[in-house]
Formats: sequence, C-alpha cells, structure tokens
Amino acid sequence: MRGFILHTVKVRDEDLIVRILTENEVLTLYRFYGARHSYINVGYHIDFVIEESPKTTIKRLRNVTQLPFSFLFDLQKMLDFKIFINLLNKHLSDVSKINNFYYNLLIEITEKMKNRDSKRLLIESYIKLLQKEGRLHKEFECFLCERKIENKVALARAFLPAHEKCIYEQGFEKEKIKDLFENHKTLLFNDEEIERLWKILNLGF
Ligand SMILES: [Zn+2]
Repeated sequence: MRGFILHTVKVRDEDLIVRILTENEVLTLYRFYGARHSYINVGYHIDFVIEESPKTTIKRLRNVTQLPFSFLFDLQKMLDFKIFINLLNKHLSDVSKINNFYYNLLIEITEKMKNRDSKRLLIESYIKLLQKEGRLHKEFECFLCERKIENKVALARAFLPAHEKCIYEQGFEKEKIKDLFENHKTLLFNDEEIERLWKILNLGF
C-alpha cells in the first residue's frame, strides 16, 4: 500500500503513531522503533504493509520503504511541501474515508515540484483543493459586507474575497485573482504578491 505521511507523534522512547494519507483512506498506525527508521518523516511518500494487532485496536505499520521524489534534497522546496502537508493534516483531522483527489493532488505536486517554484505550485494546488471542495468564491462578493468587489480583491483565510477596507488588508488586482481562480495559474503575480498569498494560505485550509 502507498501513502503520504501526514503526521507523526512520538510515544514511549522510539515508537511512533503515524498518520498516513492513502488513495481512499486516512490511516492511523503504530510504528515500533520509529527512530531507527529514517523513512518516517512528514511529507514522505512510502510503500508499507498494515499488520493487524490482536492485542490493540491500533494496527501496525510494517515494511516501510521510501518512494523518493526529485526535490528531497532541496531544503526550501521540502520545507514548503511540509508546511502544505501540515495544513492538509489539520484540514483532514476528522477524516478516515477520503476521495482520491487528495492523494492524487500530492502525487501531482511531487511530480511537478522539481521544475516549479514551490510556493507558486502549492498555491495553485490549494486553489484546486478549494475548487474540489466547492469553497472557491469566484463571484467576487465581499464575505463581510456582501457587496460586490469592484476594484482590488483582498483575501481572508481560505482565500475568501473581501474589500480591502472590510478586512484591513492590502488587496490584489482583480484580473490576477480571476486568472488564479479560473485557470489555477499564478503567472500574473509578482514575487511579493506570491509571498502575500503564501501567508494567507498559511492561516489554514
Ligand atoms: Zn466588504
């Protein structure tokens, strides 16, 4: 079975409780002697076996091998990817059965990351997630005052559109946000704007 490690918690000295996103499930498994095995790290894509445990309700994680991706040694890209995974883990905190969209999205990210700016790719991926969950608001109506946004679009947590003056935040040109929301592209944004979008994404999915 294959999956991405969403989260780990140390128990006792070396054991770990590991949360894994597979194609159709979010699993919580128990890993003995975790510290001896370097493959268990948030964000890693692994192949593994689930072992039933007669004594406990939590199943065991066995035979872990890491499926390497090309940006594993690019520290900045790996850091941004881990931030994205942490946010995703919180977002999926109550989930056990899951649509394969999420696993496939992470596969797509790991395939494209080598040739892309990590923050741009992750922002575009987040937009796809919002679109999939029906939470992408393309009508450009302020979520606070409910009036139309004519000029600059400010974004709150989860990229909710608002007037600049309603949320006291600097906005973005409407055409750029339109292109991002409709075509899932960050091409029109300069690097300073990408940093601002990244900060908003970091507020939580
Ligand atoms: Zn408003």
